[in-house]
Amino acid sequence: RITLLWFRRDLRLDDNPALIHALTTGAPIVPVYIHAPDEEAPWTPGAASRWWLHGSLLALDASLQRFGSRLWIARGDSLTELRRIVAATGATGVSWNRLYDPATRERDTHIKQALRSDGLRCESHRSTLLFEPWEIASQTRSASKTGQPYRVFSAFWRACVRELSGIRPDPAPESLPAGFAPVDGLTVDDLGLLPTIPWDQGLRATWTPGESAALARATAFLDARIGAYSVARDRPDAPGTSRLSPHLHFGEISPRRLLAMILDRFGDPAADPAESFVRELGWREFSYHLLYHFPRTPVEPLDPRFADFPWRTEGVAERLDAWQRGRTGIPLVDAGMRELWHTGWMHNRVRMVAASLLTKNLRLPWQVGARWFWDTLVDADLASNTQGWQWTAGCGADAAPYFRVFNPVRQGERFDPDGGYVRRWCPELARLPNQYIHQPWTAPPPILMAADIRLGCHYPLPIVDLATSRQEALAAWGTIKGNR
Ligand code: FAD
Repeated sequence: RITLLWFRRDLRLDDNPALIHALTTGAPIVPVYIHAPDEEAPWTPGAASRWWLHGSLLALDASLQRFGSRLWIARGDSLTELRRIVAATGATGVSWNRLYDPATRERDTHIKQALRSDGLRCESHRSTLLFEPWEIASQTRSASKTGQPYRVFSAFWRACVRELSGIRPDPAPESLPAGFAPVDGLTVDDLGLLPTIPWDQGLRATWTPGESAALARATAFLDARIGAYSVARDRPDAPGTSRLSPHLHFGEISPRRLLAMILDRFGDPAADPAESFVRELGWREFSYHLLYHFPRTPVEPLDPRFADFPWRTEGVAERLDAWQRGRTGIPLVDAGMRELWHTGWMHNRVRMVAASLLTKNLRLPWQVGARWFWDTLVDADLASNTQGWQWTAGCGADAAPYFRVFNPVRQGERFDPDGGYVRRWCPELARLPNQYIHQPWTAPPPILMAADIRLGCHYPLPIVDLATSRQEALAAWGTIKGNR
């Protein structure tokens, strides 16, 4: 009754329902990882995600080795590889935790049917989310409409909050039954996940992938920062948020474990000081809810009116290039885009402002921005990225109305008042006085000279006029808003 435990984006031993299930047989477990990026197409993991995956697999293998086990690593078609390992080990079952993006859902359904028709036990479990996307459904008064997916976060979250206190994670096992030495397994290095040209110094300096690093980060955040989170979370100039997003994406820590840590420390997760942090975990749940129920949204707007939106068709390449390289001449956005390139992460407030500049002032389709984030974020996540981009562009569920265009100068003045964030990522602006740091183009020539800046040379002039482009965006919105 040997069981294959197929790891995917659940790279941990703690609160791992597929592992717990496999353990109930008492027979050996063979932990398996199969590298099959093509099966996730068109959302094959980007370069930053591959970097993270490398570290996370190493960490998981090291944890398994401490239990006298090891990760059996393979590459290729998942079904073929699973069958090959089943044949090599004599396994009678396969257990895994569910994924929710459209490509892997379809693949997993097919694999489950195929393995069952081979006569194997085959089980899938929830591990990524607090609630399955189909568990929380809108109960409207009209009987005919019950069970509809939510499209508004506040109502969705109200329904979730009622269930939070019942959530309990499973502990990590104390031991694992003797495993199998992989017969012809690959090493993590064999997967070639690391870059061939070394652009990853910033990532290495910023992050430690793996389950123990995730737990340490969660503990440090809950011990020291959660009390100030509701205010500090909007400030990119200080470490006010948890930075758990890549750990959560790769399943190095479960949201149920996080919730239990919060319950232990503070009691009610829906009350201060935890409420605003737990609500963000709720946005993550909502993103998965939307992706599950509207699987076309990574490429299509949820609001169908936006299918006809008049995105810009001229000067697209130059504008996109300036935005990607952090050379738009708008300091808060440039700082964010450089932080992203250097560390694989960007503060949420700056993600919103950078996405707003791209989709509204530059009027480029949100899909091109989402694709850039996909390749560069260590936390690139199809559900949260899609939801974040559609929300900012104004075409998603519960969207910020399209006419609410973020003003990056005001946002900078409000959330980076001393300019510390801009100075860190745009050092060429470091000597500008605070009053000009978010709008250097308004600084008089003597001030620029004293700060040693020539605009258009050391630092770009803005590639768009914020006020005019805002008006143009509103006019473009006016052409579609009646199309419901
Ligand atoms: P914290 O503030 O500490 O929040 C705790 C956790 O809650 C996060 O780790 C994350 O899992 C979740 N969370 C927080 N805010 C959101 C949110 N708005 N939507 C969904 N989940 C949230 N998040 C990703 O994980 N992957 C993405 O690819 C991604 N792309 C985004 C793109 C855009 C345009 C925008 C506006 C937001 C995007 N987000 C994405 C959401 C958010 O920016 C990040 O989750 C957050 O910045 C991660 O930092 P943190 O872990 O310190 O968050």
